[in-house]
Amino acid sequence: MNPWNILYRGSLSSCNYSCDYCPFAKTTNSLVELQKDRMELERFAAWVEAQQRQVGILITPWGEALVHRYYREMMTRLSHLPNVSRIAIQTNLSAPIDDFTEANRTTLALWTTFHPSQISVAQFITRCRQLDSAKIRYSVGVVGLREHFDSIEELRKLLRPEVYLWINAFKRESNYYQPPEINRLQAVDPYFHWNLQRHPSANRPCHAGETTFTVDGSGDARRCHFLPGPIGNIYDSHFADCLKPRLCSAATCGCHIGYIHRPESKLDELYGAGLLERIPSHWPEVVREFSAG
Ligand code: SF4
Ligand code: SF4
Repeated sequence: MNPWNILYRGSLSSCNYSCDYCPFAKTTNSLVELQKDRMELERFAAWVEAQQRQVGILITPWGEALVHRYYREMMTRLSHLPNVSRIAIQTNLSAPIDDFTEANRTTLALWTTFHPSQISVAQFITRCRQLDSAKIRYSVGVVGLREHFDSIEELRKLLRPEVYLWINAFKRESNYYQPPEINRLQAVDPYFHWNLQRHPSANRPCHAGETTFTVDGSGDARRCHFLPGPIGNIYDSHFADCLKPRLCSAATCGCHIGYIHRPESKLDELYGAGLLERIPSHWPEVVREFSAG
């Protein structure tokens, strides 16, 4: 049986931070909404536990999920399942990590993001040191806004060399970067060029909908976060029949969690077992040449 990579996003939609470009900034969910989100997560975890195949999971919440203990506890539980090869989550790293003391560090990983308008470099580094002490694997990411270039470089200097710092290109403005600025960011993240462009994907193969898919709180599965039509529901006993080789129906794919699944990118070779949490497999010893395309 092919292993599956699953992106899970429940009905949570709130965050403790207030990034000014984000619809979830300083939003809260009611207790009833959180209870619903928790039950969805528990149902998903029970389904994962019942699978016979290897499963990698990246939780990609709307907002910040780790501030809710039930996410930390559920990830800890999932990390010990023999069929779970990876349990990772996108997080702003503001929450306590004590609940991960009991987690399996081989399967647990964090996709952390640094938000310079919300936390200082020094404060963020303190959080990273706590992860280091707890032996939790993580990547660090940041959006490459011009006003944050200095902070990004400072962050790179202070992070352990073994920690990969990735930069997402600011693509809302076309031609935002001048060539020297691209070189500056590329010096921090040698794989920045991958995110700098939207990759033409129409009618080209993509594993989304075959060996990787997204799941929402009700179990509805979609190929990826960028194609809205459901392809099935994981709680249907015949769900596996919904998965098959497919071509992309979008014009382009511009997000790491999407284009890594295009076989022609060969990014699975670059990231290996760290594909979901965005940690290159040989970082930092070997920086291999991967052309954008
Ligand atoms: S930390 Fe992330 S989810 Fe929260 S407000 Fe900032 S961008 Fe939005
Ligand atoms: S190329 Fe991107 S948009 Fe197209 S199916 Fe794959 S992940 Fe989705």
